[in-house]
Amino acid sequence: DKRMRLDKLLANMGYGTRSEIKKAVKQGKVTVDGRVVKDSGLQIKPNEQQVAFSGELVVYRDVVYLMLHKPPGVVSATEDSRDETVIDLLDADDRILQPFPVGRLDKDTEGLLLLTNDGQLAHDLLSPRKHVPKTYFARVLGEEPVGQADRERFAAGVELDDGYVTMPAELEVEQAEQSDDGWVSLIRITIQEGKFHQIKRMFQAVGKQVIYLKRLSMGPLHLDETLPIGAYRELTEDEIELLR
Ligand code: URA
Repeated sequence: DKRMRLDKLLANMGYGTRSEIKKAVKQGKVTVDGRVVKDSGLQIKPNEQQVAFSGELVVYRDVVYLMLHKPPGVVSATEDSRDETVIDLLDADDRILQPFPVGRLDKDTEGLLLLTNDGQLAHDLLSPRKHVPKTYFARVLGEEPVGQADRERFAAGVELDDGYVTMPAELEVEQAEQSDDGWVSLIRITIQEGKFHQIKRMFQAVGKQVIYLKRLSMGPLHLDETLPIGAYRELTEDEIELLR
């Protein structure tokens, strides 16, 4: 049967960070099958043993945190009548835990997508008040290369086609080259919110077109570049802790 560390179980169930839990365990607040335990690294069987925190039974539910290197052509939804979804890319063992994407990437956008069944964490990461920064790499087509004027407009906030003015965004130009269609600039951009097609619409507002878009990071979580496109892995304990 499945085994896991006591501190991992409690962290997954929302009882605090690993260090907070370690402290609570040391203070004798945690029992396993009615006995106080002082070792937060104790291996337990969450489906068989009864864990209590401050006298309250801890109800165990498997939580899962997955990092997907999203390929283009799949939608960031749990169900779709026409298109393949990011959930279709998961193994049955993971699908059964009902993870959902934390926020959306456009169908043609690639890169970092977090999937979880931890509703509280998803809610916190998406909360507009927290404005978790998200960094993208993009290729942008224009009559001119992306430059200082664009950087300044993005830093000030850009008005989109629906009148919404974005929060300050950081724009960095890595390289620009001329092509038959105009200048192609390779850029990095960090935005703080996640409006529909936000980056594409920001460049539209300055007369340019995003022709490739890939998310590199979301808050403290970075795309693992060793993950092949379309592949995914569980987050490490350290990555989960960073997100909390
Ligand atoms: N901005 C976009 O335009 N598309 C995305 O997928 C993400 C950010």
